[in-house]
Amino acid sequence: MPTPAAPAEPKKKSKTPELVRGFRDVLPDEQWYWDRVEQVAASITKSYSFNRIRLPVLESVALFERTAGKESDVVTKEMYAFEDPGGDKVALRPEGTAQVARAYIEHGMVNQPQPVKLWYFEQFFRHDRPQFGRYRQLQQFGLEALGSIDPIIDAQIMLMAHRFYRELGVEVVLHVNSLGTPASRKDYIAELLNYFKQHKNKLSELDKKRMLKNPLRLLDSKEPGMNELKAGAPQIIDYLDAESKAHFMKALEYLDEAEVPYVLDPHLVRGLDYYTHSIFEVFMINPKNDEMKGLALGGGGRYDGLVPLLGGRENTGGMGAGLGVDRTILAMKQSGVFQPSEEKRVDIFFCQLGEAARRKGLAVFEKIRVGGMSCAEAFGKGSLKAQLEVADKLKAKMALILGQKEVLDGTIIVRDMDSGAQEICDVEKVVGLLARRVVAKNKMSLVEKTALAAENLEAGILPEPVEIKKPQAPKPAAPIQKKRKLFGRH
Ligand code: AMP
Repeated sequence: MPTPAAPAEPKKKSKTPELVRGFRDVLPDEQWYWDRVEQVAASITKSYSFNRIRLPVLESVALFERTAGKESDVVTKEMYAFEDPGGDKVALRPEGTAQVARAYIEHGMVNQPQPVKLWYFEQFFRHDRPQFGRYRQLQQFGLEALGSIDPIIDAQIMLMAHRFYRELGVEVVLHVNSLGTPASRKDYIAELLNYFKQHKNKLSELDKKRMLKNPLRLLDSKEPGMNELKAGAPQIIDYLDAESKAHFMKALEYLDEAEVPYVLDPHLVRGLDYYTHSIFEVFMINPKNDEMKGLALGGGGRYDGLVPLLGGRENTGGMGAGLGVDRTILAMKQSGVFQPSEEKRVDIFFCQLGEAARRKGLAVFEKIRVGGMSCAEAFGKGSLKAQLEVADKLKAKMALILGQKEVLDGTIIVRDMDSGAQEICDVEKVVGLLARRVVAKNKMSLVEKTALAAENLEAGILPEPVEIKKPQAPKPAAPIQKKRKLFGRH
């Protein structure tokens, strides 16, 4: 007798691998914000004649060690650095300025008219502690002007940062300070060290380490009790040499002239070693959320030593900004900047009945796309009711209904999804008709639409019922003059 087969083991459900900590997906609902930020970045940079540069995600570790400083947080703690299969030491880039400076030298941009003005919209990677507004993959809109030491460039970059936020509907103020030249900074650092040594017993272990490695970073410390200590600390502005002072004053005068709102922040420092002269950070004015307070949306500064440090020409000069897109989007949401409801709506929904209509539909769909409108469909659904339900969910402005009769006649039914009114149109002319209808709808405010619907009701113009049993013999909806009334207002 054959032995009975052993009962099959219950199949184990495999666990879905999760997102890596500190990384995130940007889902379709948030896409509008990303597109909007990139559009504004592109339009501002176009007006100011900045050219876009796209940079690689991977660079040699040496680039960041040399430029950011071996003791900087970015290099010591946060860099995703590893050896590639060929044995080269590489890193996922933690920031963009060093990359731009490398590209400037590598491509001989020193031979172009100076300053060379570049912008980027790229991701960076920092193995930081994830928290509100702090991710391990971050996006920055960057501006870099290389090849000029003129303080007007400092002001221009700060002005552009301010205009960028204003254009996006976020009210911001700039915090500005000067780090002077490395030479003038030396005396200041010695004085700062003296001051904190006197208060060593009040410093946390982390700040004691900072004191040894990079005393300027103490001014950045968020450790408890540091605010009071920092308030009594010497201010760099008192230690600047005459040239650094003059440079900073000029930059501020230009900012005043351009009416850029800023405050002097004598304890502002930046995380990377290469900054000189003007530095700044951007903060939201009156954020609603406490977590947003004290969170810089962006920052930047002058980096005159950077290009020479990488082997480029002395006195090249440079000024830039890195504006954080992730935090900018948080700020837009807090400022009540939302996607206009009209933009959320799909323009046209295409309904088909029967195989011939489906086939014809692909061509109609393509014509609508070429006409510049968005078009959705539910080719997988057969009944008109089911298709119109999807159209409703997508808040389609207009629907097209194509049945077998229409395919034979060369016509198509156009349904206004707000009023339910329908008309029959020559399929060859439908794209023009749809475009006019969509433009008219986009111009109408919600109030106008509600008023129109009420007027139509009063005049006895009733929406067509959604369920159309026989699409082959559609009932013409509203008489012509009523349709004109429907669409003629904008
Ligand atoms: P930084 O060059 O470090 O001053 O960064 C410039 C801007 O990039 C910041 O003001 C933030 O808006 C953004 N940023 C920096 N680090 C992160 C991060 N870990 N997560 C999200 N945004 C960040």
